[in-house]
Amino acid sequence: MKGLLAACSLMIGSVAMAQEPAYDLSFFSNSRMKGDYFFSRTTDEGNSWIESVGNKLPVSERYAHTPGNSLKLEYTDGKQGKWTATIRREDKRGQDFFAKPKFLSFWIYLPSGQNTGMFPVVQLIKGDSTLSKEVIFQVAKKDQWSQVLIPYNLLGPGFDGDQLRRITAIRFTQSIKDDLKKNFYIDDIELLPENYKTAAGYTPAIVSAKGYSKHIDLAWKPVSNPAVRYVKIYRSGDGKNFKPIGIQEAFTSRYADFTGITGETWSYKISLLNHNYDETALSPAVKASTKELSDSAMLDMVQEASFRYYWEGAEKASGLAKENIAGRHNMIATGASGFGIMALITGAERKFITRQQAVDRFVQIVGFLERADKFHGVVGHFYDGPSAKVEPFFGKRDNGGDLVEHSFLVQGLLAARAYFNGNDAKEKMIRERITKFWEQSEWDWYRRYPDSKFLYWHWSPDQAWVINHQLIGWNETMVTYLLAIASPTHGVPASMYYSGWANQDSTGKKYRSNWGETEEGSAYTNGNTYFGIKLDVGVSNGGPLFFTHYSYMGYDPHGITDKYTNYFTNNQHIAQINHAYAIQNPGKYKGYSDSAWGLTASDGPDGYSADEPVLRQDRGKLAPTGAISSFPYTPEASMKALKNFYNNYGAFLWGEYGFRDAVNLSQNWTSDIYMGLNQAPMTVMIENYRTGLIWKLFMSDRDVQAGLKKLEAAR
Ligand code: CA
Repeated sequence: MKGLLAACSLMIGSVAMAQEPAYDLSFFSNSRMKGDYFFSRTTDEGNSWIESVGNKLPVSERYAHTPGNSLKLEYTDGKQGKWTATIRREDKRGQDFFAKPKFLSFWIYLPSGQNTGMFPVVQLIKGDSTLSKEVIFQVAKKDQWSQVLIPYNLLGPGFDGDQLRRITAIRFTQSIKDDLKKNFYIDDIELLPENYKTAAGYTPAIVSAKGYSKHIDLAWKPVSNPAVRYVKIYRSGDGKNFKPIGIQEAFTSRYADFTGITGETWSYKISLLNHNYDETALSPAVKASTKELSDSAMLDMVQEASFRYYWEGAEKASGLAKENIAGRHNMIATGASGFGIMALITGAERKFITRQQAVDRFVQIVGFLERADKFHGVVGHFYDGPSAKVEPFFGKRDNGGDLVEHSFLVQGLLAARAYFNGNDAKEKMIRERITKFWEQSEWDWYRRYPDSKFLYWHWSPDQAWVINHQLIGWNETMVTYLLAIASPTHGVPASMYYSGWANQDSTGKKYRSNWGETEEGSAYTNGNTYFGIKLDVGVSNGGPLFFTHYSYMGYDPHGITDKYTNYFTNNQHIAQINHAYAIQNPGKYKGYSDSAWGLTASDGPDGYSADEPVLRQDRGKLAPTGAISSFPYTPEASMKALKNFYNNYGAFLWGEYGFRDAVNLSQNWTSDIYMGLNQAPMTVMIENYRTGLIWKLFMSDRDVQAGLKKLEAAR
């Protein structure tokens, strides 16, 4: 998919906001998957040898410094040969601020009965393959974890300051030629800012433990002490013998322990670790049991966990949604926030929070939106929450208004304007401020020319129209045209829906065939049949599933019919094609089936990509949001996927905010992050399937209705 999501393909990581909290640069703490560690690579030649699983390092659950695992290095230092083990830094979106290191630190477990002698050489590697100086380390103690602390300046110049983010890997290589076989385990490989010697000095306490069908959800009081690096979780089956089972980042106050067993009781304790892994005393124990859940309770579970991304996981100053967790702590994404707003309403209605809690959050949100930079009334893609300044995360050209993100945000806000219908001062204020925000949005400015056929995606005061991206469907941006037409103050002619969105001249055809890499559907309409399913509108065989989600979380597609199709039916067909593709599985990817499907845009082993049900855009990666946010279109197939993802893959795929972003079973990879664009659609679209709540609220809006009447008249 070229061209579409153009902003996402620009350089990530541009202008630094000084106050963004830094991460310790880490190469390894745990592997989410068993067997081999995805971000590693081994080589050996001659009579040297290193144990590997498909040229990757084996993961050991038997030994772990931080639970649950470490990496195993077993090798022979051949007289005529060489082995290497390289561990790549997982380049997590937005984890691009690193604390100035004083040490390279890692922990070694040397089992007794092993050959001793020289340990390997260690070096850091930058993206341009530059190697740091070689350092050789020594560990003497056996049958225990020992920390290796290497002063950072021993690694030589060129790996500090601005160069930190260019460090891509750490490499261990053979240092001696003695033909001996050796073995050790390694864990928590990272650059440490200081050698923290003091214990965290903070009393841990679990505040809730709740059992679901195969996992226990633990929550503790938020940890504010910056000396705390991790929360360590212990579990016991008998209430007496507690074993460490996992760690959680200190900025998250929740942990999902997926035991995979239903109808069992466990006790839990937690402790806190500082940056040097000194541990506090353990908290008092809490107890919870897993139990059978009805289908309805399973839906509640997924809705609530995903909702928490926007509730507990929100950026603190704005109350809005982060781009991804774990990523930048202060940065919000506006489109994801619009989706999150609809998830918050769903959460209030399902009593995950009280209405009053929701009101207070929305008072904060509308206050932030009033302060935030705007560009002819239109918000940018990303903001620094504390300053409310736009943040050009996708590159310096993208430093102004983003009409598509704006429309996703407005979609949520208009649903909120309908939801907060109370007469008290706060609810009134929320409605009034949303109205002001909506009526100040200059959709007509984003036509660029007075007689333009198209809306344009971006504009900024100093870059003007330099990105030059015309909005042409069919894709995720229908809501942008519908809202621009619906605006009571800065509306555009309804004819632009046909001249721009559904454009059928050479501009539209070229745009679609360029990103779809096919002529199918390049004239907006398609007309072909895929897997026996007719597709009226759509490029290729329908594209990624988020096309059927983002514009239709508020807009009820049952109510949108144009010259060419009805969009509930068309979306349903796109979801069915996506499902049928996974059953056929032409790429022969591991796991694809009737109950494991849903190609869409998500994080992946090689970064973010928009996957589609065609071989050239299928990377073997499944994002739970694909199938689950399609609930209104394919309830049976979506439920099967939900149960399969949870029951069979929950051990690595389920976490504190519900399903992690994506999984690629063929590559033994699971995403470590949750994404703001992908969690809320699950909560909201399940709700639209169950009760139609968000659809009803949004569609009750007078301006929305007036816009649809204008569209009808232009047909
Ligand atoms: Ca570990």
